[in-house]
Amino acid sequence: MAEEKKAKKTVSPGVLALRKVVEDVYADARTAKAEGKLVGWSSSKFPCELAEAFDLNVMYPENQAAGIAANRDGEIMCQAAEDLGFDNDICGYARISLAYAAGKRASRKVDFETGEYVMDPNSGKPLKDENGNVVIDEATGKPKKDPKTMQPYTVLDDIHEIAALPEGREKELRLAAIKPYRQMQMPQPDFVLCCNNICNCMTKWYENIARMCNIPLIMIDIPYNNTVEVHDSNVAYVRAQFDAAIRQLEEITGKKFDEKKFEQACANANRTAQNWLKVCDYLQYKPAPMSGFDLFNHMADVVTARGKVEAAEAFELLAQDLEENIRTGTSTLPFPEKYRVMFEGIPCWPKLPNLFKPLKENGVNVTAVVYAPAFGFVYNGLDEMARAYYKAPNSVCIEQGVAWREGICVDNKVDGVLVHYNRSCKPWSGYMAEMQRRFTKDLGIPCAGFDGDQADPRNFNEAQYTTRVQGLVEAMDAGIAAKEAK
Ligand code: SF4
Repeated sequence: MAEEKKAKKTVSPGVLALRKVVEDVYADARTAKAEGKLVGWSSSKFPCELAEAFDLNVMYPENQAAGIAANRDGEIMCQAAEDLGFDNDICGYARISLAYAAGKRASRKVDFETGEYVMDPNSGKPLKDENGNVVIDEATGKPKKDPKTMQPYTVLDDIHEIAALPEGREKELRLAAIKPYRQMQMPQPDFVLCCNNICNCMTKWYENIARMCNIPLIMIDIPYNNTVEVHDSNVAYVRAQFDAAIRQLEEITGKKFDEKKFEQACANANRTAQNWLKVCDYLQYKPAPMSGFDLFNHMADVVTARGKVEAAEAFELLAQDLEENIRTGTSTLPFPEKYRVMFEGIPCWPKLPNLFKPLKENGVNVTAVVYAPAFGFVYNGLDEMARAYYKAPNSVCIEQGVAWREGICVDNKVDGVLVHYNRSCKPWSGYMAEMQRRFTKDLGIPCAGFDGDQADPRNFNEAQYTTRVQGLVEAMDAGIAAKEAK
């Protein structure tokens, strides 16, 4: 049993390599900034190949915001943006990023007299005795907290206020108190790269960062596409913008566009995409050799390092790990797979354990996510590259969106669909009701929706989510029984 537990905790070489790739992207950017080099911020589906051709360090606020939310600082940063005047209805990623760009930071509360952090008595895991039983506090009747796991209070700080302080103890303590995880230590931008193929919120979000930080913005406009095909005139429109972006990057960096580096970045991006798709395809196996939730974590590599050879190699390693799992009949899923679902949308990052719990209790594995085709795009040449960037989840028409999803549902053999109605992401959630209707009509599988938010924990209700998962499980049971009876 002890050995079994130990085996489950072993991290595979592929996962280790993927973690290192993202760590390195952040560390390289911090080093570059310290050396006075330029650091850019980019939307997730801006053509990274262009920046790679200039050897630029580029960071990805969507990935950063997801990390901040997963570290439980989404609410304080969203609130900070709202206090700056940004509306609560704006996407949570944008609010977190705008607060960060304005200099706001989640920080640990310091006692300036002692220099110690002030611990939050409500934080931490329950204390357990030597038999593994939770220790109850006799005075309150509630479980005692394990002091080793307790955390300081989180407070909001501001790097501009800190910078304005005279040199001394307070300045040092406040700087050191900013939370040490990588997303809260991301360098401020010297330029921004925005492509609105993800959504139109991006446009205003990046314009605001550029204005706030007084830095150049390179904008590539890829509008919503009403047809499944991308017409030649659309390709020409985007190709011309690639040329303009290259000229702007030449001005910002003072360097000439390096065709060879660009071609290498394209080759890397294609190799990463092919390996990412291969990894996603392993979810077609029944039972799957991995938990579908793993894909959400690996998205960080696809977003931050698609154009780097290290990402391509790390995904190759992960594919080998999964082949080994299939050969040995093992899985990263920590429970037996009874049901298979497509999870539609971005997860609620601040609430991942709460999302996972009822799935685990009911034996539900996520074996399909729409990220596979959305980020696994392979192309040959600039025209195909322009076409590929037209295909983002929120910029394709509903026919394309349904076809993508129904294809994965069939290939990955799902029994049902769990839809996250994400308050942050209006463009994604807006057409989900119609999609749900089509999945059930075309594939005969049940769907259940729940309300939540990718970054702002105030918009998630655990009781509603648990009930919806339960309802979906009952409907899947009925569907499976009906199939077997035929
Ligand atoms: S696509 Fe959705 S989640 Fe992403 S930035 Fe736009 S609104 Fe936010």
